[in-house]
Amino acid sequence: MTPRELRPDEEFALGLDAADPLARFRDRFEVPVGADGRPLIYFCGHSLGLMPKSARALVAREIDDWGRLGVAGHFEATNPWYTYHERFRESGARLVGALPGEVVMMNSLTVNLHLMMATFYRPTASRHAILMEADAFPSDRYAVTSQIRHHGLDPETSLILVRPRPGESIHRSEDLERLIEERGGEIALVLLPGVQYLTGQVFDLERLSAAARRQGCLIGFDLAHAAGNIVLRLHDCRVDFAVWCSYKYLNAGPGAVGGCFVHQAHGDDPTLPRLAGWWGNDPETRFAMRPEFVPRKGADGWQVSNPPILSMAPLLASLAIFEEAGLEALRAKLERLTGYLLFLIDAQGSRRIEVITPRDPARRGCQLSLRVRRAPRDLAAALSSAGVVCDLREPDVIRVSTAPLYNRFHDVWRFAQTLGKEAG
Ligand SMILES: *Cc1c(COP(=O)(O)O)cnc(C)c1O
Repeated sequence: MTPRELRPDEEFALGLDAADPLARFRDRFEVPVGADGRPLIYFCGHSLGLMPKSARALVAREIDDWGRLGVAGHFEATNPWYTYHERFRESGARLVGALPGEVVMMNSLTVNLHLMMATFYRPTASRHAILMEADAFPSDRYAVTSQIRHHGLDPETSLILVRPRPGESIHRSEDLERLIEERGGEIALVLLPGVQYLTGQVFDLERLSAAARRQGCLIGFDLAHAAGNIVLRLHDCRVDFAVWCSYKYLNAGPGAVGGCFVHQAHGDDPTLPRLAGWWGNDPETRFAMRPEFVPRKGADGWQVSNPPILSMAPLLASLAIFEEAGLEALRAKLERLTGYLLFLIDAQGSRRIEVITPRDPARRGCQLSLRVRRAPRDLAAALSSAGVVCDLREPDVIRVSTAPLYNRFHDVWRFAQTLGKEAG
């Protein structure tokens, strides 16, 4: 769909929906309605994805099996709890472009980040630093800073922060590469996002992983805004580790169980230091009650505790929908949705709004970030009153994301109408 083929009228938006091969998936989700009874324009999948209707029955099944079976549910439940996390082995791997065994669903994002850094941030006298963005999501900054201190080091000297060039919002790959090259000798770990939470920029995982590898640094990615959004190839890009949450684009519910990727090259190494717990032990000997820890091969070996089954059930519902829709088809639709939104915003030519997300479709996912030059809070409030769910990140960025599973082209059109009226 090139801009020349697009039109700003409502019929055109309705036509796009009528021709959309993924349109039927919207019905699989509960879409909240506003005071007027109309469905809200839900552009907040970057924060909390909508609820798959199928989640209800899957959670109820675990509750029922618990009631019916008690402890026997570990082995006799419809989906036995003892091996529950293994149900995500194939779908979880496909989601991020990994081999089965490189991915495990467990804990939440920041916890997984700590567990990964316990293994992959092993500072030495010369190679002691972590490289991350100055504008990273605060939780990542807290986790990294506390890890540095945990090793008796000082973030003043062991934290290297990277910023976009002055006056720019987007990181340039060549600048990141150069920094890794220049300071690689002191960098133990590079930690970057797959998709930047504020700007929606997609990072070049392959290029950055190669740059880190050339300097002997390990590299991990925070995929909070990438999982379920962009097509990932973690294994082939030779990423060392990655972590993500499942409540944003993955629609697995508030506080959903997150995910973790450990490259096969590390997963098969039982000697790697880690913060261990019984669920990471080889299940064959888990109940032998031996004092020595024998990690299970792969990402599974980083599990600590037995998983929260009631919280994992919605993830099962969600991943089934991703499997059915297909990541490539979702990708194609999201490029059309964001492309259409960009077209409508450009057509309005508002000087109050600047889209800071990269325009190259390969460098953006579902999210467009709008920098609002005047009275951003007023605009955010007006959008909310008009039935749009999006968010304002202080001081001046409104994030809107169009999720291809449940958003329609007509939602985009309605959103643009409101934006034009308020910000025109
Ligand atoms: C959403 C998000 C988190 C959230 O962390 P939790 O541990 O799941 O609460 C962390 N990092 C980034 C970049 C995020 O966008």
